[in-house]
Amino acid sequence: STTPLPVPTTPLEVQQLAKSFNQLLSALNQELIHEQQFVSDASHELRTPLTVIRGYISLLKRRGAEHPEVLSEAIDFLDSESNRLQQLVESLLTITRNERLTLSPQRLELAPVLTQLLKPYQEQMTQKVQVDCPPTLSVLVDENSLKQMILALLDNAAKYSPTNQPIKITCKPQDDNVTIAVSDQGPGIPNNQKNLIFDRFYRVDTARSSQIPGTGLGLSIVSQLVSLNHGSISITDNDPRGSVFTLTLPK
Ligand code: ADP
Repeated sequence: STTPLPVPTTPLEVQQLAKSFNQLLSALNQELIHEQQFVSDASHELRTPLTVIRGYISLLKRRGAEHPEVLSEAIDFLDSESNRLQQLVESLLTITRNERLTLSPQRLELAPVLTQLLKPYQEQMTQKVQVDCPPTLSVLVDENSLKQMILALLDNAAKYSPTNQPIKITCKPQDDNVTIAVSDQGPGIPNNQKNLIFDRFYRVDTARSSQIPGTGLGLSIVSQLVSLNHGSISITDNDPRGSVFTLTLPK
């Protein structure tokens, strides 16, 4: 179920929550036994924030009462690590849900879909999004998948590029296909890692070590969806800097 759990308010409740995550982990292990590598990677990724959470709970139990200064530090870490757990679990659920997805491909006009998608999104982001899309260009795709893919690419473009640099979405017909390119002016992706970033849990070192939150699952979800929709995705360098992620989908 995706019903939100009540927010824990005491170390004991956080500890109980951590325990139920451990149980969730075991359940995940059972259900995905056929994807052993994935499960083992997922467990590893889930275990890291769990270990931090348990460490801080133990610190709170030992020193929380006499040392109020450890409280705020511990709470900050509990907050950020439990957020990370939540993002991981939600992305894992998306992956398993997508594996059983029934698609409804239909001919969609891109320009109105983009306008509808960007309206609420643009309000929460600092970068401007410029759209260049011929008004009648249409694509054969499942609408929900298309939206998920574009939002994931936009999220990354926004997350990894400077706030004052615009993001561009460019749509073009190309033979029997349509290309939808999301370009940013961020750090770009080193050539030797352009293929790797689609792997589950892979993050470029600079992203992993920076404060930019992420799970390394967003692009693997995009590549899962694009192949379900008989398309492909590629990355090139933007000029003068940044990356261009191009979705190619059937017309
Ligand atoms: P996440 O963003 O959660 O780490 P993704 O699977 O979406 O996971 O991306 C994998 C990695 O690819 C990121 O950690 C980052 O290193 C790199 N990346 C993705 N999009 C961009 C982008 N627009 N600019 C620079 N690096 C990017």
